[in-house]
Amino acid sequence: MSKVVGKMIIVAAPSGAGKSSFVERVCSEEPRLFDTVTYTTRAMRVGESQGKPYYFVTKSEFENRVQEGFFVEWARVHENYYGTPLHQLEDSWAKGLCVIMDVDVQGVRTFRAKYPSAETIFIMPPSLDELRRRLLKRDGEKIKDLDVRMRNAEIEMRSAPDFKHLLVNDDFELSYQQFKKIVVEILDS
Ligand code: 5GP
Repeated sequence: MSKVVGKMIIVAAPSGAGKSSFVERVCSEEPRLFDTVTYTTRAMRVGESQGKPYYFVTKSEFENRVQEGFFVEWARVHENYYGTPLHQLEDSWAKGLCVIMDVDVQGVRTFRAKYPSAETIFIMPPSLDELRRRLLKRDGEKIKDLDVRMRNAEIEMRSAPDFKHLLVNDDFELSYQQFKKIVVEILDS
């Protein structure tokens, strides 16, 4: 068993590229991982609840927590705030687990600066057209911020070469197996 304490895997991808499904599944299959539950001010989607996949808070509660220094990193993404609580990293390392988290590219920059040894994985959608189709399928025809998410996707994809590991999610199962192989290699290293 390798040493996972202090290890961190950061996964980024445009919204809708499949990263939360990958992270959720790899955590269910690999007990050495701890998936953070971050805070957000965005509205809950159908099927979501408090703590799944976020703690949903008001803007003023979020801002108070920023002032208290509760977040190790936070960012404004698609017109909402998202933040990672510092204690979740500390608690998971105290349990001997490796932290895995899914954040936007601003979050990746902050984590890289604070934890230079962090491992980074970027998941690309097969194309922007396919990404748009997946977002519409997931969030419905009336998705309010589709244009914002598509513009952000183009910006996020430009930062892909800065990541240590890069993969394209064209076929879910095959891409997931590639993703898991990368994660297991990091855990074993
Ligand atoms: P969604 O609202 O679609 O669940 O997520 C929107 C984006 O926010 C995703 O790119 C997700 O990775 C990112 N995100 C989630 N939690 C955090 C966080 O704590 N910090 C940052 N910087 N981004 C986050």
